[in-house]
Amino acid sequence: MTNPHDEYHKLVRMVHDKLWLESHLGNTDAPGLIWPEVEVQTSSAREAMIQKLQHPQGRPVPQRQAAPQPAPPPRPAPLPSMPQALPQLVQISDCTPEPGDHLNADSGLTKQERLHQLWPIARDCTRCGLHQGRQTVVFADGSAEADLLFIGEGPGYDEDRQGIPFVGSAGQLLNKIITAMGMRREEVFIANIVKCHPPNNRDPQPVEAKTCLPFLLAQIEIVQPKVICLLGRIPLQYMTNEKSIMRSRGRWFEYKGIPMMATYHPAFLLRNEHEKRNCWEDMKQVKARLEALKAGGE
Ligand code: SF4
Repeated sequence: MTNPHDEYHKLVRMVHDKLWLESHLGNTDAPGLIWPEVEVQTSSAREAMIQKLQHPQGRPVPQRQAAPQPAPPPRPAPLPSMPQALPQLVQISDCTPEPGDHLNADSGLTKQERLHQLWPIARDCTRCGLHQGRQTVVFADGSAEADLLFIGEGPGYDEDRQGIPFVGSAGQLLNKIITAMGMRREEVFIANIVKCHPPNNRDPQPVEAKTCLPFLLAQIEIVQPKVICLLGRIPLQYMTNEKSIMRSRGRWFEYKGIPMMATYHPAFLLRNEHEKRNCWEDMKQVKARLEALKAGGE
């Protein structure tokens, strides 16, 4: 005879199993078997549940997450465009007349106007290979009426992009030197042996320096400074016959009657701080010579 308790428990177990299967397999169509949490499941949730049940380990199959997309690389900053009218001093367009052809001091033009005549020739110059990699022709900076003229080596990376000599960290040190001498950068004239940036900041090759030199000599001829300061080995090499800046710094040379002092390039001083004292001694000589020449009315 059947035990009513056993029959009852058997019936309860069958109903429980039925409800569990229906809910986990997502068959919610059967009347009377819709549980509230089953009712709100979406079809994707049902599929996930079926996968969970069908997975051999009984663990849910990991949901494939969309891989996070890497942020696009930042766009490189655009290069500054070549200045339309470079430093207020110069422009150069035609190499047929030599730079020296613009040196007629009897023309009635001011120094500034004569520099403006020289500029187009340098601006468009393709005389040496350095023109191929340049962004700008770095003609000069400062005053056409300057008493003191600094000569550097050639434009660096920053100078090439801005079209102005000595604007990088070495230029900032040069500005400090000029200020310490009691002058302003706008009062002096600053130019280089070559007007175009040598690739990788290498030394200008002799053919490049000698090809470009007429521009610098024309600038000196126009400005007629009282004193010239050679900054480093390269201007020393091409403005004198000396090769060693170590042996020549602190010494006076002469170009067409203009005294020239040789000292270290500011970029060298940035790497050799202990030489700043020697450079300052050279600058004190330059300052004294300038004052003496001015006092003498020269
Ligand atoms: S470095 Fe001087 S000579 Fe050479 S291309 Fe430039 S401006 Fe002309």
